This record gives sequence, structure tokens and C-alpha cells, in this order.
Amino acid sequence: MTSSYAFWLAGRQVSGEDSFDVTSPWDGRVVGKVSVPTDAQIEEAVAAAYAVRDDFAATPAHTRAVALDHVSRRLAERTEEIARLISAENGKPMKWARGEVGRAVSVFRFAAEEARRFNGGEAQRLDTDLGGQGRLALTRRFPKGVVLGIAPFNFPLNLCAHKIAPAIAAGVPIILKPAPATPLSGLVIGELLAETDLLAGSWSILPVPNDKMPALVQDERLPVISFTGSEKVGYAIMDSVPRKHCTLELGGNGAAVVLADYASDADLDWAATRIATFSNYQGGQSCISVQRVIADASVYDRLLPRIVAAVEAQVTGDPSDDATEVGPLVSEDAARRVETWVDEAVAAGAVLRAGGKRDGASYAPTVLTDVPADVTLACEEVFGPVLTVQKADGEAAAFAAVNDSKYGLQAGVFTHDLQTAFRAHRALEVGGVVIGDVPSYRADQMPYGGVKQSGVGREGVRFAMDDYTYERVLVLTGL
Ligand code: NAD
Repeated sequence: MTSSYAFWLAGRQVSGEDSFDVTSPWDGRVVGKVSVPTDAQIEEAVAAAYAVRDDFAATPAHTRAVALDHVSRRLAERTEEIARLISAENGKPMKWARGEVGRAVSVFRFAAEEARRFNGGEAQRLDTDLGGQGRLALTRRFPKGVVLGIAPFNFPLNLCAHKIAPAIAAGVPIILKPAPATPLSGLVIGELLAETDLLAGSWSILPVPNDKMPALVQDERLPVISFTGSEKVGYAIMDSVPRKHCTLELGGNGAAVVLADYASDADLDWAATRIATFSNYQGGQSCISVQRVIADASVYDRLLPRIVAAVEAQVTGDPSDDATEVGPLVSEDAARRVETWVDEAVAAGAVLRAGGKRDGASYAPTVLTDVPADVTLACEEVFGPVLTVQKADGEAAAFAAVNDSKYGLQAGVFTHDLQTAFRAHRALEVGGVVIGDVPSYRADQMPYGGVKQSGVGREGVRFAMDDYTYERVLVLTGL
């Protein structure tokens, strides 16, 4: 029997009038039936969040921290079951799905820790300049208002966690909207929050259909929008509400640079293995998966065959199987789009070194070289298991190749040299540089986000809390 999922309205589990099926991209089976909120129910959730905003901000930090710790613990207890759900609705191999639950466990734990630390306030003496005698400024952070959190399909649990946990930690009410393809994992967070005594109204998790989102985006009671998803939708939202505070976590075409000093057999084996794994993990559907390898000309000929061999060794197949490393993409449409882009590149002269085949929603791990600079694959985010390898003459040319992109999320640089690491940090136009590894590394406590078309603002628990709040100064006189 298909499980039915109600949504979470102001902390209560509620059903609407309509529902839709969530299907597995691997075998098409119905994983769950999700209830859709009516207009009146969406309004009820927004009104409730707006009504409790002052009371929620005043909730003691320890109350919010205890609730966040509870969710963290319960996620850990239910890891296997929740990982199966992620895997079923998203097609993510179990290996990665378990990892995602583990990360969400950490996100809620970090949020509990930050809730205890946040807003200690800063005292600043003002008598350091004329006219400030006897004055002191105290600074504390206050909510900007209710947050609208919008999450994508590719990390259906953890990217919902990244919206909701910092909001609770900062005492800011939130309306969270999971992705339509993968709403079930986000709704599980509601089950765990409902076990706490957080203020009713402070959180709702609503699978609102896309066509009803513009009204929610425009709602003036929701002045903060925290969006993770595609460039197209993100910028359309920001353009439609230029006076709102929008954080956009968008796409990328992550580059891994392998420099001349990374030249021993062991170095190249490590780089090739990491590149192969992280261009294909979750079917390449990560904003920081490796899409481009830029190899110094002196190591290119030894690196390329290693990458091809490591990519061909990736175990593809049923995502529920523990051995599978690469499952299907989120839909057959997504796999067809990747197929079209690869075919276009090959027709324009790119050389196919591995993969290049589609089977339903699955696309084989693929490596291409000699890709012309103007084909779609070279210009856009592939969001599939496809890797291009190119040569660069020296460090400066390699860094210029990384920057020759409209995106700027993260970059990886394989080097042993500390000076090179600092030069990379200075030169690369991205939100994060990873030395000695691929760009596909996100620790959930660090600031994370992009520049250029990869987005605006930063996430990471503490940074999202800053984002949802603003500094308000209290000036005391006569001291
Ligand atoms: P998407 O833009 O299609 O959807 C994202 C969310 O926006 C979904 O919840 C969707 O329902 C919602 N949405 C769609 N239309 C809307 C509208 N008109 N108004 C408001 N919301 C609307 O993205 P996706 O396909 O789910 O996710 C893939 C994208 O997300 C990729 O580009 C990937 O790089 C990006 N991503 C970025 C990060 C990051 O942190 N930078 C992390 C993960 C994914």
C-alpha cells in the first residue's frame, strides 16, 4: 500500500484536498502520495508564522537548542529508514543517502550549538571619538522577519535542514517548501519537530505547487527568501521581489585543477579516483560535483587514462543496492537533456572517452576531451555524470580556465605547495577553494555559497543565522 504524507501547518499534521504521487526515478514505482495545501491552508501557515514572530524571537535559547538536539538525535536513530526514503524518491544510492542523513544530523547539532552561542551581544565603547563620552553601544541581532525557505531535489533532506535548523536556532519563524520531485524527506523533519514543544506557528513545511509559489514569494509578511535551486528560478524570484532579502544558492560547473607538482603515480591515482567519484556521486546532481578537469600539460597524458579507468569502474545500477555508486538521474527528462548536450558536443568535435549512453533515467558516467568552448556542455551546468578534461600550460593558465565561466561556486586544486594554495585562494573567482581535493566538499558549518551566477549570500548554519537576522544597536548614555 502506498504511504500517504500529510504536510505540516503551524506544527500540526494536516491534509489538503488534492494530492500528488512521488515516484522513484529508478523503477517508476509510487513511493508516496503527498497532500497539497489549499490556498486557505497556505494563508493559515503564513498568518501563524507572522503572528508568533515576536514570541518566537523571545523563546529562550535553551528551549530552541533542546528541540534542535532532539531532531538531531532522532534523525540519527532513524538513519536507515530515512536514507531508504531519500534513495527511493531521489534515486540516490544508499551509500550517499546514508551520508546525507549523517550531514543533516550534524546540521541540527550545529544549530543547537549555535543557538546557545548566538546573540551574546557585543559592547563597544563610544568615547573613542569626540561626543561619545559616557556612551556605550550594545549590539544584538534581531529577526528580519519570517523566512520563506525553498529547497531543491538533490539533497532533499539536508538542504531542507539547512533552511529550517538555522531559523529555529535564531528564533525566526519559517515556511519551508521542499522540491516537488522529492518532498517526502523534508516532511520527515516535520515528524521530528512535532515531537518537540517549539512554539506552534513557528514552523510549517508545505509542498506548495510551483504555480502557487509566486503569490507566496510576493507576500510581504515573508521578507526573507532563502532559495537553493537553479539559476533560472532563483534570479526570477529575486527580480520579482527586488526589495526583499534574497539568498540564492544556485548552480555551478565545478573545476578540479591538477597542477604540475601533483605528479607522482600516487598523486595522480588519488586525483583520478577523487575526480571520478565526485563527478558521478548522486548522478552528478550536486552543485559542486566535478564537471571540469583542468590538468597541467605536464601531467595530462598520465592523468587522463587514470580518470577514464576510474570513471569506467564506477558501479552503476539500482540505488537501493549497497554496492551502487551511481544511480539514475532524478527523471528521464533530466537524462535526456544530458544526452542531448553530450551529443551536441560530440557533433561539434568533442572526443568521447567513456560513457555517452542513456538508459531510461540513467546516464552512463561520461568523460569527454577536446570540447569546443561554445557548446552548451562547456557553458552551462550539466547536473549529470559528465566530466570534461582539458589541458592548461601552467598555473596561471589553469586558474584563468577556472575563471572562464559564468559560475563561481567552488574549485579544487591538487597541489602540495602552500604558496600555490594561497595564490589559488586569491586568484579563483569562487565561494570556496579546496586544496588537495575536488571542489565537492561542503562541511555544514562553513560558509558556503557562490559568486557570479552561482548565487548571492552564504549558507552554513551560523551564516544562515546571520542572514535571517540583522544587527540592532542600543546606545546607552550617561555612563
Ligand atoms: P529548481 O530551481 O527547479 O527548483 C528549486 C525549488 O524552487 C523547488 O522547490 C521548486 O519547486 C521551486 N520553484 C520552482 N518554481 C518556482 C517559482 N516560480 N517560485 C518559487 N519557487 C519555485 O532546482 P532543482 O532542479 O530542484 O535543483 C537543482 C539546482 O539546484 C541545480 O542548479 C543545483 O546546482 C542547484 N543547487 C545549488 C546548491 C547550492 O547550495 N548552491 C545546492 C543544491 C542544488
